[in-house]
Amino acid sequence: MTAETLKADVPAEVVPAAVEVHDVHKWYGAHRVLDGVSLTVRPGEVTVILGPSGSGKSTLLRVINHLEKPEIGHVSVNGEPIGVRRHGGRLREVSERTILSQRSRIGFVFQNFNLFPHLTVLDNVAAAPVATGRLTKPQAQDLARELLGRVGLADKAGAYPRQLSGGQQQRVAIARALALRPGVILFDEPTSALDPELVGEVLAVIKDLATSGTTLVIVTHEVGFAREVADKVVFLDGGRIVEQGPPHEVLDKPRHERTRDFLSKVL
Ligand code: ADP
Ligand code: MG
Repeated sequence: MTAETLKADVPAEVVPAAVEVHDVHKWYGAHRVLDGVSLTVRPGEVTVILGPSGSGKSTLLRVINHLEKPEIGHVSVNGEPIGVRRHGGRLREVSERTILSQRSRIGFVFQNFNLFPHLTVLDNVAAAPVATGRLTKPQAQDLARELLGRVGLADKAGAYPRQLSGGQQQRVAIARALALRPGVILFDEPTSALDPELVGEVLAVIKDLATSGTTLVIVTHEVGFAREVADKVVFLDGGRIVEQGPPHEVLDKPRHERTRDFLSKVL
């Protein structure tokens, strides 16, 4: 059998999910921040997470990236459990080194860009593929130039982050996330620290990724953007998923009072 027929014979559900969050509970003392969250993100899908401040959105992204460890439940990325391994049918914790390697396959774009201030734009983008031993420095710099072109910043390669606007810095951060060729990129309110006139250029870059088949999980309050790019919208409140579905259902015909209430405040 050729690879082609093999592929055609494999039902969609056999392809591992890009992200699988399974019944995750996270608490700090008595405070339940995530209270049984389950979520599946298919390869190439764009998932937008909405919810009021304090509802657990950032914590959910941090659990997916294993920056936080859930008290109950687990997360898999591209079919690989994060932070644990199966051993004789039971789950065991893995080494910090393995976690770092797993994390390098998940892109993360923060609200405040978090660029290295002492490195040029080019080296910000090239640093991780070199540090993880995946590329030589010249290879990483070639890739960085290509990715800077993709986010419209080819002419800023030699600049330092402080010389750029917030919108430009965030586009560098997106190029940096792409440099590790991640299976999924997580965005935590990527435009909420920006002046309003700079929001559009960052959303345009994210939209370009969305339409080119990159798997994205985006926390944002930009409901119009969610309607445009999301395959699935998830509404989180009080550490629980209140409802999820395609944007025309969750945003235009929300079934729950809490979703309606939230949307009436942000629209
Ligand atoms: P969101 O991103 O939706 O605004 P977060 O995930 O940041 O929400 O936080 C959810 C709740 O968890 C908040 O009430 C926050 O105060 C609490 N929280 C987050 N991180 C910690 C922490 N490290 N220790 C204690 N409480 C935390
Ligand atoms: Mg947050």
